[in-house]
Amino acid sequence: MTFFNDTSLLPIVYELLHNLALLYTFISLFMPMITKGCLEYNPLKIHTKGVLFFSILALVSMLMPIRFTQIPDAAIDLRIAIIILTSSYLGPLNAFCVGVATIVFRILLGGLGWIPWVPAALLSGPVAFAVIKRVNKRPGGMIMASITCTAVSMTILAVASHNLDVFSYFSPAVHPDNFIKIFFALAICNSMAAVAYDRAIKSILIRQQNYHELRLKADTDGMTGLYNHNRFQYEIGQAINSAQKSKSPLCLLMLDLDYFKEYNDNLGHQAGDALLKEAAKIFLESIRPKDIAARYGGEEFAIILPDCSEYEAVKISERIREKFEQNPFYGREKMPKRKVTISIGIACYLGDSTDKNTLIQKADAALYSAKRTGRNKSVVYSPYRNVCFMAKS
Ligand code: GH3
Ligand code: MG
Ligand code: MG
Repeated sequence: MTFFNDTSLLPIVYELLHNLALLYTFISLFMPMITKGCLEYNPLKIHTKGVLFFSILALVSMLMPIRFTQIPDAAIDLRIAIIILTSSYLGPLNAFCVGVATIVFRILLGGLGWIPWVPAALLSGPVAFAVIKRVNKRPGGMIMASITCTAVSMTILAVASHNLDVFSYFSPAVHPDNFIKIFFALAICNSMAAVAYDRAIKSILIRQQNYHELRLKADTDGMTGLYNHNRFQYEIGQAINSAQKSKSPLCLLMLDLDYFKEYNDNLGHQAGDALLKEAAKIFLESIRPKDIAARYGGEEFAIILPDCSEYEAVKISERIREKFEQNPFYGREKMPKRKVTISIGIACYLGDSTDKNTLIQKADAALYSAKRTGRNKSVVYSPYRNVCFMAKS
């Protein structure tokens, strides 16, 4: 076939590689920014950021088509590959949306002559979905989907050209003599692009996933699974900032297990570790989803209560304290008063100029007061008396 025998194939390969490299750069730079490394597959939900990312990718691809000397005036771009990738990563519904975006871009860039692309663009996503489902091995699935979608697209174009006699309307390159050439050019270029971009997107997703896993490990206390001290400092700073912005109250609980050294001494450090884990479970069960529990260090914990009044904070604190008192912890009979207890200091940010360090100091002072006055109680920091008053004991 003349298409393959033509000696000027090299510039086309060069142009295709050039095109791939540019789009690869686009993917590497913008995908983490736009999609935050998250392309969640959901056949029934529109993934707005994902659709935006793939639509921009399709636009960039259409702005730099590959020119073939064998097919004068024909511009081969990689939009089919991009619809296929959308279908594979986000499902057919999102691929349909990207298809619509390519229609808009194509007509804006090239005029109404591109109307036959409309059914092809809308069908490519679902067709790719069906093919990838059958050949779910990569890169085979991607290549098969590219060939099938190109065939569908060219068939629609051929039928439209023949039946509707709209040749004059199209680019002169779409003459019947050129259909087969364009089919091969599109199929080869889109297959290569689909495979290459698939690799690029996958490697970014894996990198992002590794990053999130590492981040989670770095922020989490290995024993209890709660946030660690470092992350607590970050979260309390953020919580104060949002409370300032939204003019809502914010409370902080500092919690410390009573006589924990004695527990360790009597029952061993392993039992102590198990108690710390159970304590974390009790905290998580007692707080609202928007509250943040952290291990401050050793047997001290902190709980951030955003959008929470002092009254509510005392209620939550007392709920935790009572749960500890009543929980049948292992070895509790060896503890003073035959139970495991906890002391809690409460401090609130009420729209004043309190910064995070002052808030922590106040909660600490309240906790110290709880310890000093007998333990197993919640104490609220009081700015007026410069002492703490007890909620209940
Ligand atoms: P108080 O009622 O005044 O708080 O007395 P306490 O005994 O709880 O406090 P103290 O500060 O004297 O002792 C804290 C103990 O917590 C000492 C330490 O061995 C223990 N601890 C700290 N971190 C861990 C841990 O990760 N595992 C275990 N098993 N024990 C820990
Ligand atoms: Mg203690
Ligand atoms: Mg302590």
